[in-house]
Amino acid sequence: MAPKTKSSKKSAPTVKRKSVIGSTAKKPKIEAKVAKKVGAGTDPKRVTAILQKLDQAYPEATCELKHENPFQLLISTILSAQCTDVRVNEVTKTLYQKYKTPKDFAYANPSELEQEIRPTGFFRNKTKSIMGASKGILENFHGEVPKTMEEILTLPGVARKTGNVVLGSGYGIASGVVVDTHVIRLSRRLDLTKNEDPKKIEQDLIKIIPQDHWIKFSHQLIWHGRRVCIARKPRCIDCNLESICYSKDKTI
Ligand code: SF4
Repeated sequence: MAPKTKSSKKSAPTVKRKSVIGSTAKKPKIEAKVAKKVGAGTDPKRVTAILQKLDQAYPEATCELKHENPFQLLISTILSAQCTDVRVNEVTKTLYQKYKTPKDFAYANPSELEQEIRPTGFFRNKTKSIMGASKGILENFHGEVPKTMEEILTLPGVARKTGNVVLGSGYGIASGVVVDTHVIRLSRRLDLTKNEDPKKIEQDLIKIIPQDHWIKFSHQLIWHGRRVCIARKPRCIDCNLESICYSKDKTI
């Protein structure tokens, strides 16, 4: 849980709001008050304040998918579509004992693999992606997960989000910002983007976040989205970003 600082209490907005989740009401006038202190939207001072507060709340934020190498992270990320990391970790605990290399997955029995990953959902499509990506790695990249976005995107079932996860958390290469459902929601709530399309959101974030923060920022936003700024009823009372957040979804 993100600690709430003294300063955030002092500057917390006193505007009383009705239930605002999903509301089409206009943005509260609190934006003007906040803007005086750290700016609004993507003002560099405000972005810096957001990064500092995320660092305070989540100094150790990392990828929550358990993996021992970039290849396992790639498979786990494919499995994580529409599934929790906890569930994926339960499945991969035994899966990676049986399948250890790209070759093992590439020449797996598809029906068996489908049943083994079934608890993660969408198991038929995920089986095709896992086997296809593994074959691509074997045939085109000498059995190693490639280290560039351009190359990794040639693998079946791999889009930018997966590419950024693997390059960032598997290799430590900051090629972009991971834009998952949490990053989409929080970037919009924090007024760092007006866009809804993940590719456009990533471009917006890349412009305002220093590159040496891209990997950590992605993890911190995902942690915040899972623990505090949750989708249905954000726990604003526990949020250390509250003093600089003027989202219409705020619950205090
Ligand atoms: S909506 Fe609430 S929980 Fe989310 S960032 Fe704003 S103040 Fe924090």
